[in-house]
Amino acid sequence: MAKFIKVKMLKNNSHGKKGEIIVVEERYAQLYLFHRNKAVLIEESDKNKSEAGYPIPKHLNDILIPMGTDNNENRVDGVVRCLCGCETFSVSVYGDKEGQDIYVGEYNNDSALMIKAECTECHKTHLIFDLSKHGWNGFVCHDGVTVPDDELFPWPCKKCSSDVHHIKLTIISEGKEDYVDNLGDDIGDGKEFSEDDWVEAFGWITISLTCSHCGFNDERWIDYETM
Ligand SMILES: [Zn+2]
Ligand SMILES: [Zn+2]
Repeated sequence: MAKFIKVKMLKNNSHGKKGEIIVVEERYAQLYLFHRNKAVLIEESDKNKSEAGYPIPKHLNDILIPMGTDNNENRVDGVVRCLCGCETFSVSVYGDKEGQDIYVGEYNNDSALMIKAECTECHKTHLIFDLSKHGWNGFVCHDGVTVPDDELFPWPCKKCSSDVHHIKLTIISEGKEDYVDNLGDDIGDGKEFSEDDWVEAFGWITISLTCSHCGFNDERWIDYETM
């Protein structure tokens, strides 16, 4: 079992050599030890965290690690980290590719945008975003459609064509109260939505990719308003 203890945080140095470990800082952390003797920060305990918490949708709860000091009920910045501790992923996407950019696409005459990430270490595949399930329009309004896995294509670095990236996310939310006020009678026992679902109905997602081969940073690879 994991527990909260004060630790010297050990972190994979994303831009260093593979397997290299650097000590970043001392802070409170929920710490797991992995078989490679690597200490991996799973979740920070944060005295300033609001009661509602951060706007992290459930499918990202275990893999989006909040970073920085600007996180609150309305915004979370974080890095994607596999449960095995690895932070590099083969990224695949479905959308409308125009030149070197990706936009919302069409599938079965409906809108579609889907991003998946396969861990380069343990090969587990994580769903990062599906327009038809996540965010206000997908979760609350049921807009858009889910795309079968075999429609997704690998996303190459714009500089070197590698499809292995580090992934950072920023999620912006109107907050829990706004969600509860807007859905009103649709929330409750036996109703379609519950108060805890507010994290699913975020308003904006930004996905940043950094190529793990050449270091090219595509800061706003996906920058999508979901409401
Ligand atoms: Zn993994
Ligand atoms: Zn590259």
